[in-house]
Amino acid sequence: MIQHKDLDDPQVREVIVIGGGIAGLSAAIYLGRAQRDTLVIDSGHSMAVWEPVVENYLGFSKGISGENLLSEGRTQAARHNVRFAEDEIEAISSTASVFELGGKKGTYRSKRLLLATGIFHLPPEIPGVSECLGHSMFFCKDCDGFRVREKRIAICGANNDAVEYALGMLHYSPCVIIATNGEAPRWSEGHAQWIAEYEIPVYKARILDVEHRDRRILSLRFGAEECVKIDYIFTTRGDVFHTDLAKQLGAELDEEGQIKVDQCLRTTVPRLYAAGCVTPANCQMIIAAGQGAAAAQAINRDLFEEDLQSHSLRRFRAVQLAEEETVPETLSQSV
Ligand SMILES: Cc1cc2nc3c(=O)[nH]c(=O)nc-3n(C[C@H](O)[C@H](O)[C@H](O)COP(=O)(O)OP(=O)(O)OC[C@H]3O[C@@H](n4cnc5c(N)ncnc54)[C@H](O)[C@@H]3O)c2cc1C
Repeated sequence: MIQHKDLDDPQVREVIVIGGGIAGLSAAIYLGRAQRDTLVIDSGHSMAVWEPVVENYLGFSKGISGENLLSEGRTQAARHNVRFAEDEIEAISSTASVFELGGKKGTYRSKRLLLATGIFHLPPEIPGVSECLGHSMFFCKDCDGFRVREKRIAICGANNDAVEYALGMLHYSPCVIIATNGEAPRWSEGHAQWIAEYEIPVYKARILDVEHRDRRILSLRFGAEECVKIDYIFTTRGDVFHTDLAKQLGAELDEEGQIKVDQCLRTTVPRLYAAGCVTPANCQMIIAAGQGAAAAQAINRDLFEEDLQSHSLRRFRAVQLAEEETVPETLSQSV
């Protein structure tokens, strides 16, 4: 690997990636292979670990667990000399050329920064279902609709999203209900008409209990008398976007709270990039991986252009010439 002996300050990394989930690891692999001095800082809460069998990621015809996908990604990035730090970044600032990061365990500096901090899907406020997460309770029909075909599905929610989820689920199963879990419906008149048109049952009482065995949901209990047999729950409570660091740097967010990026995954702050579910991308692993790769390529190009402007590519030439005993043949012929 090329030694970055002549960076202005050896403590300043060329690139730091905050977030070692799917987007961050994909970026790290590209950056490592581009010979960029790269550090991934991760607090270890990738959503990918919640998926026992990822079935929609290219190249794994029998599926792969989210945990294995992450572990393979880390190994792949480490093979390309990417460094890792287990830490959670809490504070961030920037000077004209350097980002300064304060974590729970250490401080870090870099020339370019990629935020791949992801989101958190809010779980439903139903007692005793957390162990069913990823097995029979899901957040995303694109990820899991296929595996619930012909099953009995409850959509938990009381807004337009919940109605559209229920309608979208009709592609997979004719047996769909909506459970508002005690909330008054907040869906529009148009959405109410769709519910009526497709005769989707709506349960407005609070869910008192979820019967489940071996992480498989069996039924929802709404009261002493009312019990509905169900195989799967999808919940639409919403997401928390991990954008605190972006906000500290003044990056613009969109109306849903995601970090605004352009096609090269540049944010509105110079030298700051974002990739994965924290951006307006559809929150899928393969899209997060693609965005990470695209961001890494843009960062690599950006650093290259900076080197051209500052004439600092000579540092690589100087290293080579210092190591060569003779001038290369092609050069000696041309002089
Ligand atoms: C139950 C469940 C099932 C799913 N199933 C599928 C599926 O089958 N197929 C599919 O395509 N997608 C699936 N997904 C979605 C998938 O997990 C996401 O698309 C993917 O993980 C997004 O990658 P990311 O890199 O944007 O975020 P993540 O993978 O969540 O990674 C973000 C990382 O950033 C770290 N981080 C955040 N803030 C900081 C900080 N301040 N300092 C340091 N580190 C920080 C976190 O610890 C985390 O490791 C599923 C999600 C869930 C919840």
